[in-house]
Amino acid sequence: MFPYPDPRGRFGPYGGRYVPETLVPALDALAEAYDEARADPAFMQTLEDDLRDFVGRPSLLTLAANLTARLGGAKIYLKREDLNHTGAHKINNTVGQALLAKRMGKARVIAETGAGQHGVATATAAARYGLACVVYMGEEDVRRQALNVFRMQLLGAEVRTVTSGTRTLKDATNEAIRDWVTNVRDTFYIIGSVVGPHPYPMLVRDFQSVVGREVMQQLQEYEGREAPDAIVACVGGGSNAIGVFAPYAYLSEERRPRLIGVEAAGHGMTSGAHAASISLGKRGVLHGALMYLLSDDDGQISPAHSVSAGLDYPGVGPEHSFYADEGLAEYVAVDDAEALAAFRTLAEVEGIIPALETAHAIAHVMRLAPTMPPEAIIVLNLSGRGDKDVSEAMRVLGERPVTS
Ligand SMILES: *Cc1c(COP(=O)(O)O)cnc(C)c1O
Repeated sequence: MFPYPDPRGRFGPYGGRYVPETLVPALDALAEAYDEARADPAFMQTLEDDLRDFVGRPSLLTLAANLTARLGGAKIYLKREDLNHTGAHKINNTVGQALLAKRMGKARVIAETGAGQHGVATATAAARYGLACVVYMGEEDVRRQALNVFRMQLLGAEVRTVTSGTRTLKDATNEAIRDWVTNVRDTFYIIGSVVGPHPYPMLVRDFQSVVGREVMQQLQEYEGREAPDAIVACVGGGSNAIGVFAPYAYLSEERRPRLIGVEAAGHGMTSGAHAASISLGKRGVLHGALMYLLSDDDGQISPAHSVSAGLDYPGVGPEHSFYADEGLAEYVAVDDAEALAAFRTLAEVEGIIPALETAHAIAHVMRLAPTMPPEAIIVLNLSGRGDKDVSEAMRVLGERPVTS
């Protein structure tokens, strides 16, 4: 369906497989199983049925009439991934990979998680399909994300605390890879964004691209055109953005809308505390693939910062790196303060509390819409709901609930 990656798993120079030899047979087996699965109508039907019956797809495309009126420019539509089961787009991918695990005869899935969102989405799919589930999480993250740890346990998953290194996502990833190498015969490794060695960036993209395909149909129905003028999405690893971009990215230039990815500028673009991997990063290898990432002069990966845990990642998927170089998409950045203001605005004006990740995309839409005419259309990918973020927002906005 999509022209990239090439058979070696490359998006231009990006992607590929920078992994130990011991992982290559497992990645080959996965790529082969996935090729067979996507050509099998029965598999694709099961996936479609489960996205409907378990995830709640198709998600709505909601006209944000109040926000449109407030900003006084382009008409704004919200693609409501916040309404999915578990509250974000991540479930589209974990359901797809769990079904693939089952098809490959694996009894067990593993994942690593930072803030816990991908761990919860993995544990949810594992419960649905009767798969044993182990989630690796750094000790520091286990402490900060106690609610998500308990959620995963409620869903029947085992959360393994990682005490090595900085006790965060990087160390959890190393442990998950170690587990996979040891137990590859019965274990499927579920990666949470469009990152990792080939074929992961491709298969995560494919599972998320249901979002963009639905937008095409819904916009056709509501507006009589398949493409808006612009699509805006936040970018951490890049899966929600690729999901909504990919069906449009390879159209001819006349048919392609502006695709705008919004990275986290954290404390600011000159602060050194941000997650703007495309805007300020350079090429390097992270998690088994070549991509844009944040690194110091010695090539060491630099820590990322964002008020939103889901954007707090020092790299960005290979397909985004390729889009950026080729001009297929544009990438901008929004800092913590502007994202927090947009978080409040959407809640007040539209009655929707967004995820803090999503708030970065909203902030950019608030800049963009007034510069466009009323006939123009913007689609904002509302990647998740903000229930998970209200206590963090309360802390940083310095407010207490109003009591009478
Ligand atoms: C995890 C997450 C993100 C960031 O991940 P991507 O792979 O870049 O999409 C964005 N929004 C929400 C709501 C998330 O949970």
